[in-house]
Amino acid sequence: MPSVQPPASSNPLVLFGGTFDPVHRAHISAARAVSKVLGGAHVHLLPNAVPPHKAQPMADGEQRLAMLRLACREYPELVVDDWELRQTGPSYSLNTLRHFRDQCADRPLIFMIGADSFANLHQWHRWQEYATLCHLAVVPRPECALAPDKVQAAFPESDAAQLLQHPSGLRLMLQRPFLDVSATAIREALEKKGDCPALDPAVSTHIRRHHLYNVATTTPSTNYEAP
Ligand code: ATP
Repeated sequence: MPSVQPPASSNPLVLFGGTFDPVHRAHISAARAVSKVLGGAHVHLLPNAVPPHKAQPMADGEQRLAMLRLACREYPELVVDDWELRQTGPSYSLNTLRHFRDQCADRPLIFMIGADSFANLHQWHRWQEYATLCHLAVVPRPECALAPDKVQAAFPESDAAQLLQHPSGLRLMLQRPFLDVSATAIREALEKKGDCPALDPAVSTHIRRHHLYNVATTTPSTNYEAP
């Protein structure tokens, strides 16, 4: 059964978990879009320590945090959060959602994910409990399957105003951004060409400086200096 909780006070908190290996333009555009549609809500970007659904990241947690801080430096609505990196064991989103639900009492808690993650949500650890803890904000992504009916039914589709009235249990489907960008393609481009336009220039410079992702070294570096 869909779980829509009683009305809550506004002031939502948005969580955006991921590997961010590395953070790219689609992550930042998506986080800013969700913040904007929710009235300027803070979005916490949480790099995971041990991703439960994919291979270990190539860059370590400190490097991924550093790249996130560079990519978010001009956006006060984006908060880089090391909470998952400080936990032990697999980074199950359920643990993160429980922690932040405790922190924000009955305020709306919104878990934002790409459409590819939404399509696979039924494979995530105890996903059925999510609706009691958070709303979902789903960002479109090219060539994604639809989520199974049971996942869609667990989070009834709604709008931003309704999400702000309830602590959890609803789903907001964004129409944009719609960007064909992935960290996998970026890592491949870095290895072959030494750079990728989907990276913030400061992140590119950081990657070259720290020799991350087997970056091709024949490409001239940019002149960007990290603050
Ligand atoms: P990889 O290619 O290594 O799998 P990724 O680009 O998918 O990485 P992640 O850090 O795994 O990036 O993603 C974190 C979150 O961002 C996930 O919810 C994912 O669905 C979402 N996301 C990543 N890229 C996009 C995109 N282009 N459009 C919408 N959502 C995205």
